[in-house]
Amino acid sequence: MSDQRVTRPTKRSTEVQNRSPVVQKPDALRTRIMQSNKSSGNESTELRLLTLMRAAGISGWRRGVVLPGRPDFVFPRFRVAVFVDGCFWHGCKCRRAPKQNRSFWLKKFRTNRARDKKTTNLLQKEGWTVVRLWEHELLMTPEYAMRRLSGPLKI
Ligand SMILES: [Zn+2]
Repeated sequence: MSDQRVTRPTKRSTEVQNRSPVVQKPDALRTRIMQSNKSSGNESTELRLLTLMRAAGISGWRRGVVLPGRPDFVFPRFRVAVFVDGCFWHGCKCRRAPKQNRSFWLKKFRTNRARDKKTTNLLQKEGWTVVRLWEHELLMTPEYAMRRLSGPLKI
C-alpha cells in the first residue's frame, strides 16, 4: 500500500511536530534546544550588541572570523575578541538551572564554562585581548558593557 500524499516526509513531520500540543519526550526536547542554540540561538543577543556598539560609535568589527571558540565579534586592529555569553548556556549566576534533569544541566554548564576558560586562555596566549560580555549585561547595564569594550578598543 502506498500513501500518495507523502511527498516530503521530513518537512511534513517537522511541521506536524511543531504544531502538536503533545508534550515531547525530554530527550527530544533537549536535543532540539541544543541544536537551535548551535544554529541561531545567540543571534538576538549578538544583534543587541551590534545595536549597542553602533549607538556607542564603535566600529571596525568583523564577524565569523575563524578563531578558537568562534568569537562573536573580532576587532582585528586591536586584536580584541568579543564573546557574548548567553546567561543560561554559560551558567551565569543570574539564571537558575532547571529543576528537571538538574544534574544534567549543572554538568552541561560546568563543561561550557570550562570550555570558555580554555578558549580565553588559548586566545590570550596568541596575543588576543578577550572580552566576555554576559547576555544580562547587554540588557541591564548596557553602558557598563560598552565601557568594558572601550578600554581594549582604546576609545
Ligand atoms: Zn546573567
